[in-house]
Order: sequence, then C-alpha cells, then structure tokens
Amino acid sequence: MAITLPALPYEASALEPYISANTLGYHHGKHHQTYVSNLNNLIQNTPLADEALEAIIFASANVPEKVGIFNNAAQVWNHTFYWNCMKKDGGGAPSGAIASKITEDFGSFEAFVEAFKNAGLTQFGSGWAWLVLENGKLKITKTSNADTPMVHQQKALLTVDVWEHAYYLDYQNKRADYIDIFLKHLVNWEFVNENLKA
Ligand code: MN
Repeated sequence: MAITLPALPYEASALEPYISANTLGYHHGKHHQTYVSNLNNLIQNTPLADEALEAIIFASANVPEKVGIFNNAAQVWNHTFYWNCMKKDGGGAPSGAIASKITEDFGSFEAFVEAFKNAGLTQFGSGWAWLVLENGKLKITKTSNADTPMVHQQKALLTVDVWEHAYYLDYQNKRADYIDIFLKHLVNWEFVNENLKA
C-alpha cells in the first residue's frame, strides 16, 4: 500500500486571480508529488510501508534516524490539508461554530486575523502558520519546515503554507500580501468548521 497524491479539491485555475494555475500546478504536481515519491521510496520494504500516513508521521516524529521519513510524510499531510483550507470565493469573516469560538478565544475576528498574519510573517524561513485547537482552546501557531500540529498534541483547523514555493511565482517576496489575500479571498471556513467539529 503506497501513499498516493490526492487530487486537488478544485481545478488548478479555481483560485485565480489570487493563486495562479501555474503556482498550483507546480505546488501540487511537483512539490507535493515529490514528497509523496520520496516518502514511498523511504518506507518501501520497511515496517512503515503498510501504515497509514498519520501513523507514519507519529512513528517518525522526534526519531533522529527517521527525520527524512517524518519530513516527507508531514509535508504530504500538510499540503493535502492546505488545499482543503482554500476554496473559490472563500475568505472573509467565518460563520458557524468557528465564528463564535474565534470571538470567545481571541476577543474578535480582527484580533484573530492580526495574530494569524503575524505568525505567517514572522515564521523565519520555510514553514506554516496554523489555527489549532489545544486543550479546547483556539491558538495560533507557526511551525518550521515540515513540522505539524498533530505531533504537538494540537488539532489543526486551518493552515497557510509560507514556504516561498507557495507564493513566489505570484507574489515574489511579498509574503504579507499573499497571507492577506489568503484570509480575504481563499479560506474555506466550512472546512475549518468540519475540523472543529471532528
Ligand atoms: Mn508547499
């Protein structure tokens, strides 16, 4: 049982003009695919070969000789999660359970936006900004490289990829503009609500 690359949940052009089909094509078809291929090469003929992706992530986290497996497995998971965090005509203020939870835990939607943008902007080098649930409370976090909330006793609710490959073709060095656009036009709050409920 090999790990496979899931299809994008929308057409590669669906997020234009905010994220181009060119960016999504490379990001999904080349970057995400490479993590899948690398992972399958690393786990073949090992006891992890028949495990599910999340089990592979937990089995390799903080194990020095399995760092390559962890990096590729976590990046496979993070990217699939990220695609689902976006949709055509998304973004703006949320509705449903996540809306009241954000007000409860951050004070206001504006305070959430500020904290999420700040996490993405201040992640030095490659990584991810996250909205997570930790001990029943919402929290903004950032992770470096492939690191992922599930190995920190946190449930991921929303993420933005701040590796340069996620935005460079469309925004060059302007990471702040990309995160701003992500929040205003792309966030799939229904997906965030599903994660909160799960
Ligand atoms: Mn990426």
